[in-house]
Amino acid sequence: MTPDSAHVPVLIAGGGPAGLATALELAHHGVASLVVEPREEVSWLRPRAKTTSARTMELFRRWGLAARVRERAALPVSWSDEAVFTTGLLGREITRFRGCFGLDLTGDDRAAEAGQQIGQPAVEQVLREAVAASPHAELRTGWSLTGLAEDAGGVTATLAGPGGAVREVRAGYLVGADGAWSTVRDAIGVSYEGSADERPNFNIVFRAPGLAGRVPHGPAVHYWVLHPDRPGLVGRLDLDDLWWCIAQGVTQQEGEADPLRLVRALVGGDVDAEIVATDPWKAKMLLAQRYGTARVFLAGDAAHLNPPWGGHGFNTGIGDAVNLGWKLAAVLSGWAPPALLDSYEAERRPVAARTIAEAARNMATLAPELADPRLTGTDTEFAAARPAVARAVQETKDAEFHSLDLVLGYTYHGTPLVTGPAGGRLAHRWLAPGDSLFDHLGRGFTLTGDLDRPEAEEFVKAAAAEGVPLELFHHPPAGLALVRPDQHVAWTAAGDGPADPREILRRAVGHP
Ligand SMILES: Cc1cc2nc3c(=O)[nH]c(=O)nc-3n(C[C@H](O)[C@H](O)[C@H](O)COP(=O)(O)OP(=O)(O)OC[C@H]3O[C@@H](n4cnc5c(N)ncnc54)[C@H](O)[C@@H]3O)c2cc1C
Repeated sequence: MTPDSAHVPVLIAGGGPAGLATALELAHHGVASLVVEPREEVSWLRPRAKTTSARTMELFRRWGLAARVRERAALPVSWSDEAVFTTGLLGREITRFRGCFGLDLTGDDRAAEAGQQIGQPAVEQVLREAVAASPHAELRTGWSLTGLAEDAGGVTATLAGPGGAVREVRAGYLVGADGAWSTVRDAIGVSYEGSADERPNFNIVFRAPGLAGRVPHGPAVHYWVLHPDRPGLVGRLDLDDLWWCIAQGVTQQEGEADPLRLVRALVGGDVDAEIVATDPWKAKMLLAQRYGTARVFLAGDAAHLNPPWGGHGFNTGIGDAVNLGWKLAAVLSGWAPPALLDSYEAERRPVAARTIAEAARNMATLAPELADPRLTGTDTEFAAARPAVARAVQETKDAEFHSLDLVLGYTYHGTPLVTGPAGGRLAHRWLAPGDSLFDHLGRGFTLTGDLDRPEAEEFVKAAAAEGVPLELFHHPPAGLALVRPDQHVAWTAAGDGPADPREILRRAVGHP
């Protein structure tokens, strides 16, 4: 049933990746939501995020969307998992990384999905279509949230729509997924804390027929250009003629004055290119002081901004959406107390802080810092400079391309919901080709591992008594584990926490 326009369980301001993902997570649990979004169409000309992490792909798989995202990606995951450091797209190679961004994880036991290179608008389009197809979620484009009033029973939001229309919507909960300039964040009196990097960057999307055939380095998802005069990055948006590049240290004014000159400098040769779009930006390291109130929550860029190096920005927002979505669904469905919602900030804010710190470390050494004037000199000068530059690149940039410790390894260890040493994502394995352990987890909680252990029966009884949805998946010889709806482990028999299943389950759903 489509939610009533005047009263919805959850209102979501913002239909970017975080807002649409929140609606899909709620729908996954059968909870209705309304997403309001001013943009009628996704912004095809502003590709922005291009890295969908292995973890985000696993979460998309959970909603049945991973295959569709891969179908829509213009660069197949098998096309390349490499990043090449060069003196120019058509220039000399300095060094390269393989297995970047988890793109090499297809069929690997570590993850149910490999990462995927895909432009943000294509991801948003898949998410929009999934919301449109859902019986529980509605996306209303052309509408923005302009104000809100929160009381003990819910939130009254004021919306502005086409032709000056104004409407009030009453919601049980409001999610502010309305991006960096969040109206919701301002309305609840929360500020970002942190800093910005003052160095300007200038993104260009360009079309250059025939350019791909001239590139001497083979397929790569990033071509870094360590040219002292014009450092930056270049990459393909599709296997036709569409490319993106980032000119580092270039102001909006400089960039817009002659974008074709910048493209030619990064390519390192003459090229006929049509400029399709430009996008100036500066990196920011900002974290909301708080993630919300009793009934209003911030998700995605509204809660945190990090430099794009490492490709974490939008992926962190999908993680927020899943964490917040299952908790709102649990509270609205009556099997968890409202106190569960306090754990959203306790679990997700530290992940954002760690992500910001890691992205800032990646930003400490960019193309301008790595460029050496001898790289563009004679062959002899290049040969003399190359080993040291290659070593510096490998030392300073490896973590940017190989960050599975963060992407798959972030934990909620130590938060009140988790008992003992648990808190990480359930260790993945393939049961058969294409048959992921994660495909056997329920939408609510799952008890998995060796169900012949004596605690198993106690968990089943506790879940029935508490009304918590619990599914069972017998998977010996793995130790018994209680897995949350978000695939994180709430308790494992290997830990030495309290062994009273009812207490463990009650704690996992937010009872003090
Ligand atoms: C130039 C640039 C390059 C980037 N490159 C990368 C990258 O390479 N990798 C990466 O991971 N990330 C990158 N990012 C970051 C990435 O784009 C964001 O992290 C991501 O878009 C965040 O998603 P979101 O849904 O939280 O916010 P947004 O995508 O900002 O979505 C917020 C939505 O809210 C809507 N909205 C705004 N105000 C209101 C309102 N009052 N009411 C209702 N709706 C409202 C907006 O229209 C928008 O659709 C880049 C960002 C920029 C600016």
